[in-house]
Amino acid sequence: MKNWKKLNHAEQVARVNRALLENINFSIDAPLGYPASKLDGRVFYDDAPFLKDAPVLSTYVANPNHIGCHTTGTSENAFKGSQKIEKETIDILATAIFGCEQDGYDGYIATGGTEANLQALWMFRNYFMKSFGAQPAEIAIIASEDTHYSIAKGSNLLLIDWLNVKVDFESRQIDVVAFEKQLLEAAQLGKKYFIVVCNMGTTMFGSVDNPGDYTSILEKHQLAYKLHVDAAYGGFVYPFLAKENLLDFKNPAVSSITVDAHKMLQAPYGSGVFLCRKDLIENVLTKEAEYVEGMDLTLSGSRSGANAVAVWMILVTYGENGWFEKVKVLQMRTDWLCQQLTALNIDYFREPNMNIVTIKSSFIPESIAHQFDLVPQKHTGKNDWYKIVVMDHVEIDQLKKLLDQLKEFMGILA
Ligand SMILES: *Cc1c(COP(=O)(O)O)cnc(C)c1O
Repeated sequence: MKNWKKLNHAEQVARVNRALLENINFSIDAPLGYPASKLDGRVFYDDAPFLKDAPVLSTYVANPNHIGCHTTGTSENAFKGSQKIEKETIDILATAIFGCEQDGYDGYIATGGTEANLQALWMFRNYFMKSFGAQPAEIAIIASEDTHYSIAKGSNLLLIDWLNVKVDFESRQIDVVAFEKQLLEAAQLGKKYFIVVCNMGTTMFGSVDNPGDYTSILEKHQLAYKLHVDAAYGGFVYPFLAKENLLDFKNPAVSSITVDAHKMLQAPYGSGVFLCRKDLIENVLTKEAEYVEGMDLTLSGSRSGANAVAVWMILVTYGENGWFEKVKVLQMRTDWLCQQLTALNIDYFREPNMNIVTIKSSFIPESIAHQFDLVPQKHTGKNDWYKIVVMDHVEIDQLKKLLDQLKEFMGILA
């Protein structure tokens, strides 16, 4: 992997301080035109001694605005220092993790996976409208029933229908035969352009779609499509464990990717990531954003530069190999849990390159699920599944306690 080096704390502090010096400093400079300043000084002290060793907090107090997209065109000059850190962050993600060629991408730190997914759907809807004169009614989203609900939001907001594709109950893989039928029916009804959303780790199962299940059928029927990968959940796990996969930019069919840094990467909320290939993001240029230098190619508007610095700090603290080791430990713990469940004849779903185990609800009484905060597939109606996400804080000792309770429930002596 390129460009993803580990930096020690002193190097990180120096890099962030340099960036903040390149930004407008509201404590010293007195810019007249911005509706912005550092955070309110009576509440957020900018002279607290610990700030000098805490780059994310000092960025937070300095309060740079990262409005717009910084991988293309021009951006607000006032915050160019910290925007460069965002560019470096996007570069690590696009090239080192998701296999894009150097300078072959655009992207930005969005508020979360929801926004990044909406940005993708919006971009492709406009692409079909601008390049092919498509009407919204002729465009449809294709995504499985396990897809995150942000896709339903996007369908609603953008007035484009969603073909909700069924998956097999056990394998959570796309039912290809049903999909082909559904696609041909949609085509009959006038759908001509398709936005495919493939999951790299669904929220409930961690299941990973095979993009070929969709693309082979679309190509067989010569239907136009663009493919977005929702890696909000899996983007910081799966690519490290399944190095050769079909869901990154090495696959020419993939045009854009969502990743959430505030899930597996443990960054603060407000750090989703949107990535796409070059020459696509212009489809969502808002040229009415005339007061913003470089105008605006993002859904957000104003957003905090501190989130970009936080994501960058985590990435360079670990470096490529350090992150791989962290993810590998989570995988080993997940393997261990699965071995125990298998020995107890408890049915579950697990994608081997993810850290999620989803157990059939018939094996878990509600009281135990509640005690361990297991998340149900459905909070109302008949719930078939409970999931366990093996995060950093979920250690074998805790998993053992759950297993002991399950054994007791099953009448096996713990
Ligand atoms: C969490 C999640 C999202 C939405 O992310 P937010 O950061 O909550 O907006 C989108 N897709 C998947 C697969 C997710 O797990």
